[in-house]
Amino acid sequence: MKARSLVIVGDLGATHFRAGLGDPETGQVFGVGRYPTGAASGPDRILEDIARRFKALAESAETEVRVAAIGVPGPVRAADGVVVRPPNLPGWDNVPVAARLEALTGLRVLVGNDANLAALGEQRYGAGRGARHLVYLTVSTGIGGGVVADGRLLLGAHGFAAELGHIPVEPGGPLCGCGGRGCLEALASGTAIARQAAEIARRKPGSGLGAAARGLPEGLDAPTVERLARQGDPDARYLFEQVGRYLGLGLTAVIHAFDPEKVVIGGGVANAFDLFSPALRAELNRRLMPAFRDGVEVVRAALGDVAGLYGALTLAGDYLLASA
Ligand SMILES: [Zn+2]
Repeated sequence: MKARSLVIVGDLGATHFRAGLGDPETGQVFGVGRYPTGAASGPDRILEDIARRFKALAESAETEVRVAAIGVPGPVRAADGVVVRPPNLPGWDNVPVAARLEALTGLRVLVGNDANLAALGEQRYGAGRGARHLVYLTVSTGIGGGVVADGRLLLGAHGFAAELGHIPVEPGGPLCGCGGRGCLEALASGTAIARQAAEIARRKPGSGLGAAARGLPEGLDAPTVERLARQGDPDARYLFEQVGRYLGLGLTAVIHAFDPEKVVIGGGVANAFDLFSPALRAELNRRLMPAFRDGVEVVRAALGDVAGLYGALTLAGDYLLASA
């Protein structure tokens, strides 16, 4: 009997990175550890940290491990695994992540954009199982995206495709981290919810948001706004309806472009899926061409914050299959 081959899966975030083992045959991810990224220490130190975890995982595996795959938060050039100007990882412009990790570990290392890999993970193992055409949106601090078309991740000419958070939904709207104005990310991300809640708290100090803001020296955050919305606070509920409307606007463009069977929404803000999805659906019903309206389901993601690891498993597993 052929020994099963395991792969290493990783997901680099601005505050933490995860690393574990994956079995492409059974679709299992295990032995996952979560470690502080220490973003301030720069790419060299961080990549050495990741390489050390990868090597320890490879040594702990009962079979030979040859391949690792990791998601990183920023545009990744598909041809060579170089990260290009990631907005949330300062100092990482043009870092050859794949080549560096390969040199440090001796493994073949595949690198993808974190939201792209999460899209792949949800499509293969999560809420999008069975769908060959899928759009994934992660709504958290920022908004990222991934498009699976005919069962394959859509990468574009350079590997940068599906930056769905930077679709403009309000001309002249608030400034976005990308330098543009009125992007979906600037209006519907967790950061945008917190900013809009703070504006209401300032304008209406007697409101529920005003009272909550006074108890929080760090300022309001999206989970606090969600808690208030669930308690029936009208301003907090309004903010999530607004999130639904903006997501609906952005997704109108995306659905018209890609005709997916499923839209999967993940990220921390998806905890409030029930609060924003009615407004989102209403917006889609109002704006989608009739032919598109009934053919697309909008669902909440199933894999939580390990979707990226399952995407890495998919990427590494497909590589093993293709190179067998
Ligand atoms: Zn933007």
